[in-house]
Amino acid sequence: MKRFVVAVFKHETNTFSPLPTPLEAFDRYNPRPGGPVYGEEAVATYRGTNTPVAAYIDLIEEEASEPVFAIAASATPGGPVADSAFEHCAAVICDTVTAGCDGLFLDLHGGMVTETHDDPEGELLRRIRAIAPGLPIAVAFDFHTNLSQTTVDNATVITGYRTYPHVDTYETGMRAGRTLMRAMRGEVEPVIIWHSLPILSHLNRQTPSRQPMKDIMDLAIAAESGGEVLNASVFGCFPLADIPHVGMHGVIVAEGAAEASARRLLHELMSMAWERRRDFVFETEPVATSIARAKGLGDGPIVLADHSDVAGSGGSTDVTDVLREIIAQGLENVCAGPIWDPDSVARMAEAGSGAEITLSLGGKTDFPAIGLKGEPLEVRGTVKRITDGTFTVTAPMKTGTRICMGRSAVLDTGPMEILVTSERHEPFDTGCFTHAGVDPAQKNYIVLKSRQHFRAGFEPILKDVVMVSGRGICSSDYSLFPWRNLRRPIFPLDPETTVDLPPMP
Ligand SMILES: [Zn+2]
Repeated sequence: MKRFVVAVFKHETNTFSPLPTPLEAFDRYNPRPGGPVYGEEAVATYRGTNTPVAAYIDLIEEEASEPVFAIAASATPGGPVADSAFEHCAAVICDTVTAGCDGLFLDLHGGMVTETHDDPEGELLRRIRAIAPGLPIAVAFDFHTNLSQTTVDNATVITGYRTYPHVDTYETGMRAGRTLMRAMRGEVEPVIIWHSLPILSHLNRQTPSRQPMKDIMDLAIAAESGGEVLNASVFGCFPLADIPHVGMHGVIVAEGAAEASARRLLHELMSMAWERRRDFVFETEPVATSIARAKGLGDGPIVLADHSDVAGSGGSTDVTDVLREIIAQGLENVCAGPIWDPDSVARMAEAGSGAEITLSLGGKTDFPAIGLKGEPLEVRGTVKRITDGTFTVTAPMKTGTRICMGRSAVLDTGPMEILVTSERHEPFDTGCFTHAGVDPAQKNYIVLKSRQHFRAGFEPILKDVVMVSGRGICSSDYSLFPWRNLRRPIFPLDPETTVDLPPMP
């Protein structure tokens, strides 16, 4: 029987974020806090979920084999990953390969940076390739991957998510895994060609469900569905990483014989993205203007997306600017959160359900990289509910995974119910509120620390969305960040950037 190894090792690193990422943080979706899980426990954690690795498990079982699950290590985005965490996870994967492996199926994010490595995914693949030179390796990457030549050189198949919010994650695993299985059966001989554009695109303008990205992604999807190439991916880039290989990438996996048509496709994808580069720029507006606009929109629920302070992009989710303005402008029937503040949760738990309490909420994090200091917000209200912060996702993104926000509490101020949590979490499923007895569907305003992923779970109940450009380490104002290691020139920091597009064959 063939031995197929699978592994999950994921982190999106905001290199400006002051939040540490030790090994213990790699417990996202796992059955208990404190770090990665392994083997059978990892299989049980991911089986049947909307994730790439769940697709790998199904594919391997179709081959009448059993997956050898090396490690399930996924952490909420934050600052650079501790070297010790990277070394541990990389060693587990390499040791499992060394023990015998006919095919390796990796579920990686692609946006990781460690204390030492600006390209840890490339480093991981380089180490694996050194152990097993001929090993077939498939990698399913996030849409926000920052890809390097080292990664491309050491993988057999690369594919990425085609959606943002990422709702096609299982399907992406299937697409990567199927091509690798075909390669192992000798049906195809994949080659990878790719190109990277110097575009620091804005996260708020990247989604393939809308322009300017829609036409580009549709072209890639059509080429793959039509059998012109084996896999075609476009990566939007994760811009909040001060490393050389940030950019928008096109990656084509093709049969050697079909390389010319793959090169034509790559040229078309990259030309289209470059021509549209100005449309990937998001313009911010003052917070007070956005809140006033929301106030004039009529019946809700209206989502106020506080997109500069998002856990899913390395934010602390304890910046209070937007809440402060909402209170100042007197918005009513509001729910907000999750706000990360373990101290306030502990105080509410101590006071007990029904108690009146004044909190110095949030503002516990400073951001030296952008010269921003935390400013707590004084709020008074009633403790409505204390929970363990745990629920299972039913939204179309990461469906079936278990979310643990740590001990959580709801403060009811009258006009606003605020969900406060002990762990950071980007809300993409209404369960974060409903598990605590808050029904966002009944609110005029839903304040979310999210920019795009909230649409996965909240789209069915929302009437409108207002993007609110508060302060935080995920800001869309790139002039705030002390860039040092980016390749230059890069658009839009250098508006006159010119490029060599991949040649038309
Ligand atoms: Zn992503």
